[in-house]
Amino acid sequence: MIRKKLIAGNWKMNNTSSDAADLVSGIVSEVGRANDVDVVVCPPFTSIESVGKALADSSVKLGAQNMHPERSGAYTGEISAGMLRSLFASYVILGHSERRALFGETDAFINQKVLAAIKSELKPILCVGETLEEREAGTTLKVVQTQLEAGLVGVSKEQATSVVIAYEPVWAIGTGKVATSDQAQEVHAFIRDLLNKLFTPAVGGKIRILYGGSMKPANAPELLAQPDIDGGLIGGAALEARSFVDLVKAAS
Ligand code: PEP
Repeated sequence: MIRKKLIAGNWKMNNTSSDAADLVSGIVSEVGRANDVDVVVCPPFTSIESVGKALADSSVKLGAQNMHPERSGAYTGEISAGMLRSLFASYVILGHSERRALFGETDAFINQKVLAAIKSELKPILCVGETLEEREAGTTLKVVQTQLEAGLVGVSKEQATSVVIAYEPVWAIGTGKVATSDQAQEVHAFIRDLLNKLFTPAVGGKIRILYGGSMKPANAPELLAQPDIDGGLIGGAALEARSFVDLVKAAS
């Protein structure tokens, strides 16, 4: 099964509107016509609209870093799927480990967001991954299975092909400690097998599974060469046009 690779940049809480304009213009000028790789940038909400406009004539897609599952209402500080769609976002990162750990997001709440995103035709990038303690305790696969299955409750096999999974070992995020390609492939193959069982092998074979955690141009080729690693969710290296562009090129 040939899956088109996807490189997504998660800018997190970085970049003012003017920094965002500089970064997106550096990306568009180099890979704005890429069509052998799907490229997504996920700026903070304050730059979603301006970055979306800067991407309008390019093949680079707009993503958000989070959303609320409800359509509207008294949810101070929150953003709905419909609001993101109205600004032409196509993807949304859900269940990032920082949201789970720092903002108390549960699997059940993340699942509501996944369902709401799909309903609004936003492609969820559902993040799963174990902490260092969990890896050392030998529970990596159990943790990933729980997060994956709970995050995908109620998703039909027709809807599942719009979902992207990101395997992000928490101990590798922002730490410079990248998982080895064997460690990553082992978990990706496990996720693929679960997806095949949840949705059928034909559907599981179409779902992209990204690796995230200190991916950089230097370590990307080996990771991206693994049979079940279909791209990357990139934090630190997405904040500089040069390294992000090099990652896109590594995936080409
Ligand atoms: C992330 O936060 O999704 C991430 C992968 O960050 P970094 O690339 O900085 O480890």
